[in-house]
Amino acid sequence: MMTSKTKLVGLFGHPVSHSQSPLMHNAAFAEAGLSFAYAAFDVHPEDLEDAVEGIRALGIKGVNVTIPHKVAVMPMLDEVDPLAKKIGAVNTIVNADGRLIGYNTDGLGYVRSLVEDTNIELAKQVVTILGAGGAARAVAFTLAEHGVKEIRIINRSREKALFLAEHVGTIVPTKVVEQDAGQEAIADSTLLINTTSIGMFPNVQDMPVQAEWLHGELVVSDLIYNPLETRLLREARSIGATVHSGVGMFVNQGALAFELWTGQAAPSDKMRAVVLEQLKK
Ligand code: NAP
Repeated sequence: MMTSKTKLVGLFGHPVSHSQSPLMHNAAFAEAGLSFAYAAFDVHPEDLEDAVEGIRALGIKGVNVTIPHKVAVMPMLDEVDPLAKKIGAVNTIVNADGRLIGYNTDGLGYVRSLVEDTNIELAKQVVTILGAGGAARAVAFTLAEHGVKEIRIINRSREKALFLAEHVGTIVPTKVVEQDAGQEAIADSTLLINTTSIGMFPNVQDMPVQAEWLHGELVVSDLIYNPLETRLLREARSIGATVHSGVGMFVNQGALAFELWTGQAAPSDKMRAVVLEQLKK
């Protein structure tokens, strides 16, 4: 129940009507017995600056930021956390007594979920990342910061792959692999991550790589969570590879934002259950 003490948080994006975040966070606040409420704000790009001022004016405790505002919002903040700066995008803002601080919980949410679900040792991973967009940047920088052995990047637009590799390469050995040399790169990789939107609903028959390129020693991870099991993961599972779906990343990026806003551990089991229930509908 909302009272005069309720603290408001929310989501700035455009569009926001399909977001699972309000349901997930409001269920989490109820579970934790916190008087917080989470609302979705459809903010047009030309209104972003006013919306950010609104956080200060209304004393909103914090917001998540999603497409298309993750990069544009950065200069409007008082401070940006070093990892978010490296990634070049903010997905969570905390209002610390009027000072707005930007964070990126996507990469940490991903790594937390990957380790929880698969128990892999990050330092031993030779990673092939498919894609070089915003999600790839978050995942690549965070994995690099956690000291994976090597990163290989395959992307349709070579320029974007080169740009990402150049920056991540300052932390761990990183190279760009041409699309037609993908099979070779995957053959001696231990972790394959799809960060492209290939295979996402409604194009559920599409795959970002050929099924023949997969092998049983791989951990195959897909950032997509609609469908819960993409064709890539289904094919990987059928040949005995370990699979990891994108739902854990979504839940954990939310759990980390919850922790930044409330200072308390998030009820992530509850959050996961709520999201899974929605996705199965
Ligand atoms: P983005 O910045 O637009 O990047 C999209 C990437 O996919 C680019 O590398 C793009 O290649 C590639 N791509 C798209 N369509 C392609 C096609 N037909 N053929 C080859 N490559 C294609 O998007 P994003 O924000 O990184 O998101 C990417 C995916 O991650 C989405 O499916 C999103 O749902 C998922 N995601 C999940 C979570 C989570 O919490 N689980 C969080 C964030 C994102 P080019 O560079 O050549 O265009």
